[in-house]
Amino acid sequence: MRILISGGGVAGLTLAYWLHHHGFTPVVVERSPQGRVGGYGIDFFGTGYDIAERMGLVQRLERGRIPADSVTFVDADGRVRARLKRTLVENVVRGPSLPVMHGTLEKALAGTISGLVEIRHEQTITEVRQAGDGVAVTFADGREEGFDLLIGADGVHSVTRRLVFGPERDYARHLGYHLACYPLPDDHDLGPTRIHYTRRGRQVVVYRTDRPGEMIALFLFKAQDEGGVPRAARLARLRDEFAGMGWITQRLLDGAPADEPVFMDTMTQIVMPGWHQGRVALVGDACGCMTLVSAQGVSMAMGGAFLLAEALGRHRGDHRAAFAAYERRMLPEVTRRQRNARAVARTLIPSTRLGTSTQHLVMRLLARKAFAPVLRRRFGAGSILAVGEA
Ligand SMILES: Cc1cc2nc3c(=O)[nH]c(=O)nc-3n(C[C@H](O)[C@H](O)[C@H](O)COP(=O)(O)OP(=O)(O)OC[C@H]3O[C@@H](n4cnc5c(N)ncnc54)[C@H](O)[C@@H]3O)c2cc1C
Repeated sequence: MRILISGGGVAGLTLAYWLHHHGFTPVVVERSPQGRVGGYGIDFFGTGYDIAERMGLVQRLERGRIPADSVTFVDADGRVRARLKRTLVENVVRGPSLPVMHGTLEKALAGTISGLVEIRHEQTITEVRQAGDGVAVTFADGREEGFDLLIGADGVHSVTRRLVFGPERDYARHLGYHLACYPLPDDHDLGPTRIHYTRRGRQVVVYRTDRPGEMIALFLFKAQDEGGVPRAARLARLRDEFAGMGWITQRLLDGAPADEPVFMDTMTQIVMPGWHQGRVALVGDACGCMTLVSAQGVSMAMGGAFLLAEALGRHRGDHRAAFAAYERRMLPEVTRRQRNARAVARTLIPSTRLGTSTQHLVMRLLARKAFAPVLRRRFGAGSILAVGEA
């Protein structure tokens, strides 16, 4: 059975591995060129960690661990206002956590299918037609090809979703923020901690990457949904939004790379009532984007991919039964985490000085071990693989 996967990110690559494992023939089309690296840091635990273990990837990922033993909150003068140790995360998720760069994870996942699964880079689908026993797609270069199934793993702005399920606006839920990030040289002697600085609806976050001497600057700011900001306008927009912020903000803005586009997007969840239609299904951010606030997007992308492949294997390619089983198992888990993430987003970046001081106080309280069960209930971050079979 030939299965086309649109998107070779975390969900697409994990799905390709497990489909191949269950005896299917996946083909991946990925829009970006080969060898994309870096991106941003992700916290990796629970379901994602479980699946990485099953794929034999943990040791390799450990080698790319970002040096981050804590999260520190500072004020405009760089004075520490609160600090949460990484062990808190491990207490909350009741298991290991592993901060890595998104690109490091993708590279490790790609390594597991190298030579086994065909990946076509710089390619995308432009049309999808479903007929009784297959799916015909047209690619951007005009070629047409038939497959048994099509899985959209092409992220929050999924083309598969648009072509088969309808426009993004039907499913997008804007959480009231924009985010942007880029790498730059670490001239600030950051140390092994992720540092947050908040002022009136804006937040700057910095941390070291897995490359010596490199760091990421991440910017979050409150904004209405105004769609994507054109690449050429992003840096100017950031400089405008963050003008007058204290701490090292101005130096971070001055240090933006001239030769690399700044990543910028709205903070948008994708909320859908169903994830499959005929011979087409969605996985990962394409159907259930939770945003970085949940810190579980990678886990749910890998968990969804694993369970979808497993359901197809168990139902011997009967896509109706398999898609229904996958959705029954995954959709409530994603819905719950999306709800939690929306609750967190409401207080993520205070708009007043008092709000920021209160947030620091709350962080100091949360640092106490006794609060781990409260956080556990709030985030629901345990592995979904421990919950039973589909
Ligand atoms: C700044 C930031 C920080 C985050 N931090 C965390 C965190 O700490 N923990 C966590 O779990 N999650 C985090 N997330 C979320 C996490 O990155 C996503 O949930 C996860 O990557 C989803 O995986 P995916 O494969 O579904 O989508 P993506 O990773 O977005 O992959 C989609 C892939 O599809 C490709 N693609 C897109 N369109 C097309 C097309 N038309 N044709 C072909 N290919 C296409 C893209 O190039 C990409 O390779 C963060 C996200 C951001 C932006």
